[in-house]
Amino acid sequence: MRTAVVSNSGESAHVDERPLPEPGPGQVLIRLETCGLCHTDIHAMRGDWPVKPALPLVPGHEGVGIIEAIGPGVANRTVGQRVAMPWLGHACGECRYCVSGRENLCEQQYNNGYTVDGGFSEYMLSDSRFATLVPDGVTALDAAPLTCAGVTTYAAIKNAHVTPGETVAVFGIGGLGHLAVQYARLVGAKVIAIDVTTEKLELATELGADHVINAAEVDPVDAIHDLGGADVAVVLAVAPAVFTQAFTALNRGGRLILVSLPAGGELTIPVFDTVLKGISVIGSIVGTRQDLAEVFALHAAGRTRVVTETRELDQVNSSVDEVLAGTVPARLVFEYQTADVVPVRDPSSVSL
Ligand code: ZN
Ligand code: ZN
Repeated sequence: MRTAVVSNSGESAHVDERPLPEPGPGQVLIRLETCGLCHTDIHAMRGDWPVKPALPLVPGHEGVGIIEAIGPGVANRTVGQRVAMPWLGHACGECRYCVSGRENLCEQQYNNGYTVDGGFSEYMLSDSRFATLVPDGVTALDAAPLTCAGVTTYAAIKNAHVTPGETVAVFGIGGLGHLAVQYARLVGAKVIAIDVTTEKLELATELGADHVINAAEVDPVDAIHDLGGADVAVVLAVAPAVFTQAFTALNRGGRLILVSLPAGGELTIPVFDTVLKGISVIGSIVGTRQDLAEVFALHAAGRTRVVTETRELDQVNSSVDEVLAGTVPARLVFEYQTADVVPVRDPSSVSL
């Protein structure tokens, strides 16, 4: 199988031929159809964060594919099912976080494309319990960005406890932001989209944003206050200034939802304003399997739209450059040609 590998942090990825892995106890082997490229993959490839990825690294936590083989003891999945492998590749199932429906906070978790090999590969292994079913009606191409960008922003909007009629400001319209706008709309919010590129703001308008603000042209804080301020500010961008802007744009009782993870990021906020205005600062990390199932169900019901462009695995390094340059409309997704291989029966061998 062909696999994109990063041998040392900060180096480019190289595409290698590797032997097909065997599923161990509790594991399934998946033939991948697609895998999205998330900004987290780029941080992983560079070793940007305090917790370092396992090396050599196979990135990718938006893998979607078909189960080809099951290991000993797997009872919940069968060969032929389409599944998605998100960031949360495994959680213990026993700790106080797992048993209270917060498995995304489990301290024993491992993460696809970070601590174990991810989806930048034609095949990957997964804990069968964390290979989430993709319903009919959600294509492999759409399912990939929903597997991280979708579930992450969906959970962020849930954690913000938005009530209908509130204003949600979404800072950063890319792979995550284009979905955050839609989830905020779905819960009845008025949505303000903030970005620095016109094309992304046009996309936000197309997806239902009520207002757009180009932060390269105007002060977004003033512009948001001119619109009545934000009750919720979701930070999906990584520029340090954005965090302060998001905080300052909040109304009394506002919630600052932190999602993006800039390298070495720190947030300084005034205690006085935070207390007097009753502001909450909330960190939101990916989502649970149930969140992902809900994301897929909403998409299958036609409630969301996913914007993608496809790339080949061989283009992994140029794709990273494209994401960093901000030139892609929303999400880049690697498509694997192995998905097109459908066994064709030789008609001459058919016996009647
Ligand atoms: Zn991600
Ligand atoms: Zn746990």
